[in-house]
Amino acid sequence: MGQELDELKDLTRGLRRRVSLSNHSDWALSDVPVAAVARPESSHGASLAQLDAAIHACRECPLGATRIQAVPGTGSFEAKVIFVGEGPGFQEDHQGQPFVGRSGQLLDKIMASIGLSRTTVYIANIVKCHPMKDPANPESHGNDRPPTPEEISACRGWLEAQIRAIRPKVIVTLGAVSARTLLNDATPITQIRGKWRTYDPGAGFPPIKLLPTFHPAALLRNPDLKRDVWTDMKSLNEELSRP
Ligand code: URA
Repeated sequence: MGQELDELKDLTRGLRRRVSLSNHSDWALSDVPVAAVARPESSHGASLAQLDAAIHACRECPLGATRIQAVPGTGSFEAKVIFVGEGPGFQEDHQGQPFVGRSGQLLDKIMASIGLSRTTVYIANIVKCHPMKDPANPESHGNDRPPTPEEISACRGWLEAQIRAIRPKVIVTLGAVSARTLLNDATPITQIRGKWRTYDPGAGFPPIKLLPTFHPAALLRNPDLKRDVWTDMKSLNEELSRP
């Protein structure tokens, strides 16, 4: 009886997810800004809160001196899935939250299409501070650049610690930098997206399934890519529906 009840609960959860699926034709953006999310309490909360504080104090690379604020991450400490982007941009640097610009608005729609939201997942970046072309001018727009290999290697330990604290079922990497860093694999994103891989958290933790997909910013530049990301989201939804 207990087993039947559990099976029924799993089935209901799966069906709920399926019912809430919308598709990529519904991913147009509005002018509504992305809302910040209050952090829920949980058993992992204490260690993640300590990590947040340590990230805010970090000066391991030059970005620590030029950022307005560090952007550790946001979402549920009990998340089954972590989405990992590249690094904060102008908006994120100003608001202290990941993915709050146009890419973030689109990421919200992408997640919502399979019933996920900022309150149920965790969202973080490979680097926690804003890489700027002209660090003397943090108030200028169009000042973003990708993180350097040195900045990535100085920062990646924070994300690794966040992943070990949350222990998600799945990691979704957004874009080339994130996939390349977590997989230690420089294969072009166009060749690896949508193909399930494994992330090794080290320190005796079990491997975690990892799905590389395109960065929302790439979809803003080329809307044709939405179709591929929608395929990836359906694959993610199936994985999350499995017991
Ligand atoms: N905002 C983020 O927080 N990360 C990105 O990779 C892009 C925008």
